[in-house]
Amino acid sequence: VKRDSRNGFRFFTREMQAHSVRTLTLANALRTAQERGQLSLMYQPQLCLHTDQVIGAEALLRWHHPQLGMVPPAEFIPIAESTGLIVDIGHWVMCEAAAQASRWRRDGLPPLSIAVNLSAVQFRNPRLSDRVAQVLDEAGLPAEALELELTEATTMEDPQKAVLIIDQLSARGVAMSIDDFGTGHSSLSYLKRFRVGRLKIDRSFVRDITEDAEDKAIVAAIIQLANNLGMTTIAEGVETAGQLDFLREQGCDAAQGYFFSRPLSASDFERYLSATLMR
Ligand code: C2E
Ligand code: CA
Ligand code: CA
Ligand code: CA
Repeated sequence: VKRDSRNGFRFFTREMQAHSVRTLTLANALRTAQERGQLSLMYQPQLCLHTDQVIGAEALLRWHHPQLGMVPPAEFIPIAESTGLIVDIGHWVMCEAAAQASRWRRDGLPPLSIAVNLSAVQFRNPRLSDRVAQVLDEAGLPAEALELELTEATTMEDPQKAVLIIDQLSARGVAMSIDDFGTGHSSLSYLKRFRVGRLKIDRSFVRDITEDAEDKAIVAAIIQLANNLGMTTIAEGVETAGQLDFLREQGCDAAQGYFFSRPLSASDFERYLSATLMR
């Protein structure tokens, strides 16, 4: 038990200590992860539900540490955010994904859109839109081939400012989507003012969509809302044919999930794409 001057006693358990030691270890190792070649990107296919074609991929960051093994993004992204390392790491992700998308275009693959997750910390950076423009320029990638995924929580931190940043990015032609939609507390009046092309329906609503009446209602409402606001929808975490049927019935435009494919290395993604083109 540790003495806390304001709150009396605070419990400091062995578990918490182990947790903070790991956090410190990870934070320290993360500093050099990129230069040591421990970071890589996986690409998860996104399919159009009207044409059944692959229309894009979400780039997902992986960290393989020689001693610690694979560290899940859910564990290291928050550390990267709290240490500020996410600014450089996120920039690397954007460069890497843009370069890959550009190579795919040059190799004659069908034009794909590449989605990159943007942290709230990156989103707040006043030079974001210049940086994005520079990344696209260096990769030789048209702006509309890049999609930035902002979580609903990120946009709602300061929605007025978010409107301006989104406008700047969309003026440059970059596509944007609101990720994990339905989990935050979006004010619908702001949603209308965000110039984003699509809403990404969170996995937590898709999971029980075949049984849970409330989840069905929520997903149907999100799709309708998006339609009414002139946005498209993509569902994440689609794992079964039953989930897909419901989403199609409701008019969802696109989907992503293990039912189609897990996140793939760039070369596996190319193989996946050629297999779908032969169907
Ligand atoms: P997210 O953006 O919601 O990404 C979707 C997550 O769901 C990914 O987990 C993906 O592998 C997983 N997933 C995809 N399909 C299915 C499915 O059918 N079933 C299940 N159970 N899971 C599925 P992942 O790759 O572990 O990433 C976790 C989170 O870490 C991401 O959630 C995102 O918030 C964050 N993240 C990943 N890469 C980056 C990055 O480059 N930058 C930032 N800022 N965040 C990232
Ligand atoms: Ca995402
Ligand atoms: Ca998501
Ligand atoms: Ca999610």
